[in-house]
Amino acid sequence: MPIDLKARRAQLLKREKDLSQDLDSSEEDARTAVPVDEVSDATDEAVADEERDAKYAEGNRDYEDLVEVRDALKRIDAGTYGKCEVCGREIDSARLDAVPATKYCIDDARARDLQLKPATL
Ligand SMILES: [Zn+2]
Repeated sequence: MPIDLKARRAQLLKREKDLSQDLDSSEEDARTAVPVDEVSDATDEAVADEERDAKYAEGNRDYEDLVEVRDALKRIDAGTYGKCEVCGREIDSARLDAVPATKYCIDDARARDLQLKPATL
């Protein structure tokens, strides 16, 4: 069954909007989490740093997702959406339902994960 690009684009645009909003609010949080002049000693400072790092990491993941989603939208326009970037095969439609912004088939996604995270596997 051919991919419903129109529905897919709508889904990706919604995801893009959600992620943009998340990013806006997490940047806001990172700035306002702990006012600098209320930090009283080194322990508080360390905690403030950790909170900031956690917020930053969260924002970073959202940002990476957002880049993926925008890439996927570009591929829809270019007519290459739904094809694996590595092997060129059609990506399984169930996989696209689950991970609409993916550019890898399941085999290549797994191979890539193995390459990215050798220490945890
Ligand atoms: Zn592939």
